[in-house]
Amino acid sequence: MKINVLPSEIYNKISAGEVVERPASVVKELVENSIDGGATKITVEVFDGGIKKIVVTDNGCGIEPEDIESAFLPHATSKIKDAKDLETISSLGFRGEALASIASVSRVELISKTENNEFGMNLKIEGGKYGNKKEIGFDNGTKIIVSDLFFNTPARLKFLKKPKSEEGEITNLMAKFILANPQISFRYIVDDKIIYNTFGNGLAEAMYIIYGKEVYDNLLEVKYDSNDVSVYGFIARPTLCKANRTYQTIFVNGRVVSNYMISSAVQDAVENYIMKGKFPLFALNINLPFESVDVNVHPSKQEVKFENPNRIYGIVNTAIFKAVSEANYVQDKTAEIQKENSVREPVFDTKSLLETIMNGQKEKNCFKSEYSPLVDILNEKIKENNEKSKVEISQIKLEEVIVPANDTKVESLNREIVENKNKILFEDYHIIGVLFNTYILCEKGDSLLIIDQHAGHERQLYDKFTKQIKGNNLACQDLLFPYVFNTNLKETEFLENNLELFREYGIDISEFGENSFKISAVPVLLSEINLKDFFENILSDINEVQKKFVDFFKEKIAKQACRSAIKAGDKLSDSEINFLLDSFKENGNVLLCPHGRPIVLQFSKTEIEKWFKRIV
Ligand code: ADP
Ligand code: MG
Repeated sequence: MKINVLPSEIYNKISAGEVVERPASVVKELVENSIDGGATKITVEVFDGGIKKIVVTDNGCGIEPEDIESAFLPHATSKIKDAKDLETISSLGFRGEALASIASVSRVELISKTENNEFGMNLKIEGGKYGNKKEIGFDNGTKIIVSDLFFNTPARLKFLKKPKSEEGEITNLMAKFILANPQISFRYIVDDKIIYNTFGNGLAEAMYIIYGKEVYDNLLEVKYDSNDVSVYGFIARPTLCKANRTYQTIFVNGRVVSNYMISSAVQDAVENYIMKGKFPLFALNINLPFESVDVNVHPSKQEVKFENPNRIYGIVNTAIFKAVSEANYVQDKTAEIQKENSVREPVFDTKSLLETIMNGQKEKNCFKSEYSPLVDILNEKIKENNEKSKVEISQIKLEEVIVPANDTKVESLNREIVENKNKILFEDYHIIGVLFNTYILCEKGDSLLIIDQHAGHERQLYDKFTKQIKGNNLACQDLLFPYVFNTNLKETEFLENNLELFREYGIDISEFGENSFKISAVPVLLSEINLKDFFENILSDINEVQKKFVDFFKEKIAKQACRSAIKAGDKLSDSEINFLLDSFKENGNVLLCPHGRPIVLQFSKTEIEKWFKRIV
């Protein structure tokens, strides 16, 4: 690779930024250089939180001996030649300022060898001043040793945090690198102790190393393509949710970014599966053509701008929904045996579902209306295939049935598939009894089902209330004294434009003179709330009103469902139990309560026989 010194007009196109703020920024720049250099093995060693020493060694392309000095010139880079390259940039670094900045505030030693040279070259630079270049024996690749960071800028040195917290920043950064580059083998060593060691065996391995076995055992694969955009990664089962967003990693074209839109696309997709106020753990790689995303928004290169954010939202949302909804929420206690396969292989068996559906269709004609959109598409597919050759329905894969042209269509199909699967679970069971007046025990085929009566009923009520809202069937009550409140101009304008939203949710609101509104009826669900607080809170941020409003309702509905549901300890009659289980069969509800707890556990006969050592 030839190093070019950028003409100033190009350089000015790239907004300049402080590259070296702290040890973690040095590590970031050096590792990015190694990745750009095509390394498959990268070792990062830090001492005293990187303040004393940082060593990055790679097996990448190396630097030609005659280029060694110019690598340290400001705006020297081999990665772009002219302004046109900026638009299709795929490498991580391209400003050509990192090595120059690092060398100006530390003592740097560089050893590098390319495959064209028998020997490596060694160069030392102290506070920007070059020492003598000398030949040295070395493997192909580059080693950069950065010592005594900020030795010549005491003000900056003072600004650093304690070594432990600088180390923490580097460790977080390394975790992101490992997740973003699962095909690269990383070794991360802190004060001679190995912290991370990966072998480049893929994202699942990387997540195992960073998050541990429990997360690994609960990973669901996310894999989705829509024309030129692809989404790949893993999300942990929502039952393993976290209290904040720090366990979320987003890569766009392999680059770690933070992007609120993508986080919310994921959050919105799992909302039915996750406890309110909790966040899913995931690592997602979004790949799209370089020209439809702008990575140069900020010098630290963490923010991205999408040409078409709505489309990306839709694709990510569908990708996650597909992964999460296809997973099995019956906590299958036999899973331990299959764990090895469970990460890579989709838990959900499309073939057997389709078979079940098609058999059902043969048996009863009413089937069509029940599973209509899916079956319609299947029928079309079968017809097509029958004409070509006699292809068995079971050989048709879901991916072939679904044409991901329209994301919302795919989404509704997927919802339907989960529902049907959950329906099948509640067919042909036999009630054995109730344990502790709380857990319904059923024999189903070769397995034992344990159903939490409270969680189960809670989910059913929640789904019922939600449906009522959607169907405009909400029970409302007139207020004895209508509530009247005043609004400012902005609020008036918002309310005027959104009267329908409120009415949809059963709030009878109308204008009442100038800058004043009247509420005459509210849904029974809200009968106990303080309308003054409610509207003050909702209108406190005009941009968020819609979201706040809907969230508030969901929260209310969840509370109401919890309060009205049969309790643990309530004694149920046989007919009540049948009613509960039959409702699951009918509605195919998600088998998690609105707070994300499981509703059904399933133990296979094999598993139970193992308990008693009948088999090993
Ligand atoms: P940039 O990465 O923005 O091009 P840097 O200052 O980080 O600028 O690096 C300058 C040049 O030095 C790079 O363009 C590259 O040619 C070379 N270089 C730096 N580190 C490595 C490495 N580990 N392997 C190969 N080449 C490297
Ligand atoms: Mg660089």
